[in-house]
Amino acid sequence: MEKEMPEIKIDIDRYRAKEGDKINLKKIATACDIDIDKEAVKTAAFPEALEEINLLQAKLYAQSTYGFIIVLQAMDAAGKDGTIKHVFSHLDPNGVHVVSFKQPNSEEKDHDYMWRINRALPRRGDIGIFNRSHYEDVIVTRVHDLIKEDKLPQNLVNKNIWDTRYRQIKDWERYLGENGFHVIKIFLHVSKDEQRNRLAERILNKKKNWKFSMADINERRYWDRYQELYSEMITATSTKAAPWYIVPADNKWYTRFVVSQIVIRALRDIAPEFPEMSKEIKNQLDEFRRLIESGNVGMIEEMQDMMKGGN
Ligand code: ATP
Ligand code: MG
Repeated sequence: MEKEMPEIKIDIDRYRAKEGDKINLKKIATACDIDIDKEAVKTAAFPEALEEINLLQAKLYAQSTYGFIIVLQAMDAAGKDGTIKHVFSHLDPNGVHVVSFKQPNSEEKDHDYMWRINRALPRRGDIGIFNRSHYEDVIVTRVHDLIKEDKLPQNLVNKNIWDTRYRQIKDWERYLGENGFHVIKIFLHVSKDEQRNRLAERILNKKKNWKFSMADINERRYWDRYQELYSEMITATSTKAAPWYIVPADNKWYTRFVVSQIVIRALRDIAPEFPEMSKEIKNQLDEFRRLIESGNVGMIEEMQDMMKGGN
């Protein structure tokens, strides 16, 4: 018997930063802000969403024409890792790559800031998930004034450097889009209270101890500055071609569901299709199918004979 489940629909656009909108994160929801049935999401809508992502990814991979890049940025403990695990772990690992960007190593520091990002780009047909990204180079770099220690020629470091980088980033993302690589960017928006709970959990729960880092505790001092810079950066770099989504991150089940819907929307826009087979191959397969259905044990040998004749 079919179980009655309310159809769950969310308007993803409510979380999209529209080009030209001035973003102030202080005014944007960090918790689920719509009337929605949590149980129905967890038991029906979210699993269905994962199935749809699965099918779309299989097509993307088979078609091998478009690439898809998902950038994830957030304050510490906002749930980047958990989101990646829950939304993408059902996918064919052949076509999905997660890349985490940490503090640049010495080889990376010997290059421009996009170098390591370029090297991590997915190939056509693949999904690249960036756990942090080039956006660190306009956020953490700015919070801690790291640009002064950078190898960038210091005569290029002037008061316009951040606007210059926003422009570079927008140009680069547009270039990718114009070459068949679709970019979306997701900011997991967690509240300061919820971050405190999650950092505490990393200390209290032995299984989460490995995630604990002194740096996370220290970075929390700069909370307001981060929020201010994230607001400015999202305002400056959300474009139609490569939009930012600001996803409430205080309720994990909701965050994951919203991210799944954003990914579905983007993949539907890409509209990948399984490659069309040629007419000859289709006809040949029809013949082979009839042969298999006839139960002939020598079918493979017969196929070989048919191929000799036909091709
Ligand atoms: P969590 O959200 O669980 O705390 P995380 O993404 O912070 O995970 P970590 O390994 O704890 O992962 O930290 C990576 C660190 O690397 C972050 O503090 C980030 O700001 C820093 N980082 C990434 N890119 C750069 C960069 N270009 N310059 C300086 N620091 C960077
Ligand atoms: Mg961290």
